[in-house]
Amino acid sequence: MNYPAQSSAAPVSMAPIPILMYHNIAPAPRDIRVYRSLYVSPRAFARQMWLLRRLGYVGLSMTAAAPYLRGEREGRVAVITLDDGYADNLQAAMPVLQRFGFGATCYVVSGQIGQHNRWDAERLGVSKPLMTAEQLREWHAGGMEIGAHTRTHPRLTQCDETQLRNEIHGSKAELEDLLALPVSQFCYPYGDYDDRVVGMTREAGFAAATTTHRGRAIPGTDPWRLPRIQVARHHLLPQFGMKILSGYEDRRE
Ligand SMILES: [Zn+2]
Repeated sequence: MNYPAQSSAAPVSMAPIPILMYHNIAPAPRDIRVYRSLYVSPRAFARQMWLLRRLGYVGLSMTAAAPYLRGEREGRVAVITLDDGYADNLQAAMPVLQRFGFGATCYVVSGQIGQHNRWDAERLGVSKPLMTAEQLREWHAGGMEIGAHTRTHPRLTQCDETQLRNEIHGSKAELEDLLALPVSQFCYPYGDYDDRVVGMTREAGFAAATTTHRGRAIPGTDPWRLPRIQVARHHLLPQFGMKILSGYEDRRE
């Protein structure tokens, strides 16, 4: 989906592009031990999307935003990404995104479809359902994009050559076979990557990859090391606005 730049928006020639990073769109469970911050409530998510629109932004998937990220097209755009493929993304985030006419990319762990967050359930003390194949089809039919996030959510820099290929090439093939769709976007689990991981991701035929480096993306910069802005449970609406509009998140490595 491509949206023209809104005419009401101020001119923002080659302005930085915020790529927002979400995980769960749900109330945080009370008993969770750590990482409650990975939850954004459906209400807060709706308010954030409202503010984005109010500020003149159009929320796009990674693929729809690609011409803007390459600096070939100008407009007031933000990218909405959701990591891991939780079922709550479909149930709680998609209706909100649709209400605002926004797109988004959900990065799916292809070896755990319809299962749960096996890679960190024990550490977090919570088992969270991941979208089934049918739910992923619903997500796509709703106008949203599916990207790859490996097969098992490992730390990629610690994988040997065979594992690396299996996780990166394998996740693309697995999702494309299952969904009969091209999958061109990738996200490094834990933001863990190095030159070898980037090389394998390019070789696999992806178009871009996102990290957990903080900051807004500058049009024309390295598509294999795209920074993002994490939106967490404790961020209040004014802080969210500041992250989008200002250099607050930039240069905070
Ligand atoms: Zn992840």
